[in-house]
Amino acid sequence: MNVEQIVDNLAGALGSALRRPGDRGYDEATRPRNATAEQHPVAVVAATGIDDVRRAVHAAADAGLAVAVQATGHGAGGTLGDDVLLIDSTGMGVITVDPSARTARVGAGAVWADVNAAAAPHGLLGLAGTAPDVGVVGYTLAGGVGWLTRPHGLASASLRRVEFVDGEGEPQVADEQQNSEALWAFRGAGGVGIVTAVEIDLVKVEDLWAGYQLWPIDQAEAVVAAWGAALEEIDETLTSAIGFLMAPDAPTVPEALRGHRVVHLSAASVSGEAGLAPLERALRAAPEPAIDTTGPCDAKRLAGIHLDPPAAVPAVGDGRWLTAATPRHALNILGAHGRGDRAPLAEMEIRHTATAVGSDADGAMTGPPGPFLLHVVGPAPTATDRPAVEQAIDVVRDAAEPVDTGRAAASFRDGQTTAPGALGPEASQRLQALRRGYDPHGRIRRPRPV
Ligand SMILES: Cc1cc2nc3c(=O)[nH]c(=O)nc-3n(C[C@H](O)[C@H](O)[C@H](O)COP(=O)(O)OP(=O)(O)OC[C@H]3O[C@@H](n4cnc5c(N)ncnc54)[C@H](O)[C@@H]3O)c2cc1C
Repeated sequence: MNVEQIVDNLAGALGSALRRPGDRGYDEATRPRNATAEQHPVAVVAATGIDDVRRAVHAAADAGLAVAVQATGHGAGGTLGDDVLLIDSTGMGVITVDPSARTARVGAGAVWADVNAAAAPHGLLGLAGTAPDVGVVGYTLAGGVGWLTRPHGLASASLRRVEFVDGEGEPQVADEQQNSEALWAFRGAGGVGIVTAVEIDLVKVEDLWAGYQLWPIDQAEAVVAAWGAALEEIDETLTSAIGFLMAPDAPTVPEALRGHRVVHLSAASVSGEAGLAPLERALRAAPEPAIDTTGPCDAKRLAGIHLDPPAAVPAVGDGRWLTAATPRHALNILGAHGRGDRAPLAEMEIRHTATAVGSDADGAMTGPPGPFLLHVVGPAPTATDRPAVEQAIDVVRDAAEPVDTGRAAASFRDGQTTAPGALGPEASQRLQALRRGYDPHGRIRRPRPV
């Protein structure tokens, strides 16, 4: 059967949910937010509920195709070719908040901005990452590191219940009572099926203060030293990150810094101004920042302090979990590939993620595998740009070697298809065995590394 006949058969099975190459829905669904990934699936299924997902898996099986699922494409890694039927989950975005239980039921297509917009009126927040337009499911299944990580743990530990379709097209539910092994895999290891909705815990945040500060790059020594000193004083109510990044050409950035490499220190405290005091004290030893946005904060402002790019970017990146000795090496690591404006990396960042919260939950990765997280990322608009970015990443990784835990942070491996060592060997084996059980024919394709 040729590709056209396959698509005609799929259309017979999937009706109006099917999007063929050239259809508007097809083009939108195959333009991932990480624009390095080439996506030419045989067709796209615009799923609006579990029945569409089931029918898609059955139709793929009949046609001898694999299935993949995508919400935003932030996590797009490898190529999707015409042996894959892509399920577009963006039509499954319903969010229901239960304020008394402090939970939300979130459809597979929802992004964090929508969840927190629904939760915030109740004084609640989900454990979102830095960017508002990242998908809740893709983020949570891979761990989920955000501004509330130190007080409230990784998002994977907040996962209570998963509704999913397995590789045979059967609907399943995983929670602590049923399919608890599957829940284990969904908590931080990518899971064992195509999720249609999740139930997550929300947290009460009463006194949120947060913001970012920028300095010209030549003040890096003093700022990085002050951040390191502050870490010895702060408690788990404060989560912070320090990076060297190319300042965006945006009105929120002082004009003199726009388009130049800067030191970016961002922090969020759930104990108000008091939680930030040790950081403020330590920073008195550094020059005044060019801008300081720190102050009382809501979910919307919080989602802007990391200065993540608002549009699709062709990103290649890497993430590593680092040890407690990281502050002593931070300046070397961040500055390893040079601090110039023309260097191939857009950002090198170290996040402070130390927490014990959630680590005892039954899941593949419910606590950070290291107290610090390194993320390095650069733009690679074409394949020929990629080697320079990869070489620069290697330079930073070499500088981080003395404090590397040996564990990759899969979510932060932008535009990559593998994440060696993201799980320990035992968890990896357990995951593979579970996947064979829920997807015996290996129908589900995962362009992401975990
Ligand atoms: C600008 C930016 C900022 C980020 N910030 C953070 C951060 O602060 N903290 C953090 O931890 N991560 C962060 N990430 C990484 C992000 O969590 C991952 O890229 C994540 O995979 C994105 O999920 P998505 O659903 O948006 O992406 P998608 O590309 O749509 O999905 C990624 C993968 O998740 C899986 N997946 C998605 N939907 C389903 C489903 N319904 N069922 C089963 N599997 C599914 C699939 O394997 C899919 O390939 C950031 C990424 C970007 C680009």
